[in-house]
Amino acid sequence: MSNLGLDAMLISQPESRRYLSGFTGQDTPPLDSAGYLLITASKALLLTDGRTVEQAEKEAAEYQVVRIDTRLPDTLAQILPGMGLSRIAFEGNHLTIRLYEEVKAVVEPNTLLVPTYDLVDTMRAVKEPGELEALRDAVALADAAFAHLLGIAKPGVTERELAWEIEAFLRTDGSEGVAFNPIVASGPNASMPHHVPGDRPIQAGEPIILDWGARVKGYCSDITRTVVIGEADEQFKRLYSVVLEAQTRAEQRIRAGMTGAKAYSLAQKVMAAAGLGEELAHSLGHGVGLAIHEKPYLRKTSEEVLEDGMVFSIEPGVYLPGWGGIRIEDLVTLRGGKPIVLTRSPKQLEAMEV
Ligand code: ZN
Ligand code: ZN
Repeated sequence: MSNLGLDAMLISQPESRRYLSGFTGQDTPPLDSAGYLLITASKALLLTDGRTVEQAEKEAAEYQVVRIDTRLPDTLAQILPGMGLSRIAFEGNHLTIRLYEEVKAVVEPNTLLVPTYDLVDTMRAVKEPGELEALRDAVALADAAFAHLLGIAKPGVTERELAWEIEAFLRTDGSEGVAFNPIVASGPNASMPHHVPGDRPIQAGEPIILDWGARVKGYCSDITRTVVIGEADEQFKRLYSVVLEAQTRAEQRIRAGMTGAKAYSLAQKVMAAAGLGEELAHSLGHGVGLAIHEKPYLRKTSEEVLEDGMVFSIEPGVYLPGWGGIRIEDLVTLRGGKPIVLTRSPKQLEAMEV
């Protein structure tokens, strides 16, 4: 903060608030409940309403908890005068314009509100050992769910039923809810990368994309497998082998020091060489942590540099409207500059024929 000439920082993003203070908020998940941090050179305040004051005091022992009686701007109006703050930063990618206007109205006339972008998000991208442990546990739960799924994916089961089976398994096994609503996309629905599960019964011989994640101590896992009930046809086998090659190539060759764009190109080149287009249908991957999508982003244009300790997905896919799609997703971390694949679930073609 002092390098940036900031006297204070107002944190509003729930994940950043939890990361810096330990305060989990109203629900886990979702993390989108009240609670703000105001951090200065000498003070660490956690402002929250009466529902969570006791919880905040327990969880965020290093913070002084300030009760919000009505709304945040009213509380700021009471505590800011006399703190001598002339430049207060806020998270520009999260604070609403309404709240910004209201806060601006109560700060002293010579106080500047300064938008900042990705300060805490960038810190969150590199995981500490305790965070890695939670992430590994979340990955292990997701892996266990896949083994369970292989036993119950049968013709006639609907997408929605299968999605619930995933969720029920994860919760029963100790997951804090799900990292996101599971995706089950069968047959032609599998050409939509983020299809919402519906009442379609899954059928033998068609591609079925399954994408799910668990949550442990707030940390998310994320995995995708594409399975076929019975035997895969030639089209599936050909496309699957290309996506798998793109996915494993990226997993093996990714290194610390590469940009997100370079990582993207590792997989994209394999797909292009197989005649599957010059661009991937979506990014190659994204960081995971307290948020299911966070830094770093492995996009075509990403200048973000990958570092040891980051945890991110590698998930190329191919999608053909009318036919379906294939996506394979693992989570990977970097250590000593090199990749370590965290996901253990099988992904060879033979193992996808269930
Ligand atoms: Zn996913
Ligand atoms: Zn993902």
